[in-house]
Amino acid sequence: MEPTLFDKIIAREIPADIVFEDDEVLAFNDINPQAPTHILIIPKKPIATLNDIEETDLALIGRLQFTAATLAKQLGFAEDGYRVVMNCNENGGQSVYHIHMHLLGGRRLAWPPG
Ligand code: AMP
Repeated sequence: MEPTLFDKIIAREIPADIVFEDDEVLAFNDINPQAPTHILIIPKKPIATLNDIEETDLALIGRLQFTAATLAKQLGFAEDGYRVVMNCNENGGQSVYHIHMHLLGGRRLAWPPG
């Protein structure tokens, strides 16, 4: 598989505004924010889409969610509320084929999404 943009961010070949990192997860500000806070939370393991998650990845996927909630608490909007989104494939609006969780917070978000 060709390295994606996010593989290059993990490898520090492309700069990003990193807000959290551990052995398995990286989180950085989205370059085109859709809310006052818009962070992308990604596994370091390259998984192309939600459809490619395997049973052995379940703890890793939980870690993405836990990271989102931890960041929301640290940034002060956990109680007000926020949204996490993972887009899958073309109809879901996925543009980078390395799974990522969008963490959107800091304003009231409309529903349904576009
Ligand atoms: P998606 O459309 O769900 O695949 O989300 C991909 C996200 O990556 C979009 O919200 C883009 O704004 C974001 N993005 C693209 N390039 C970069 C970059 N170099 N640094 C940070 N975020 C990026």
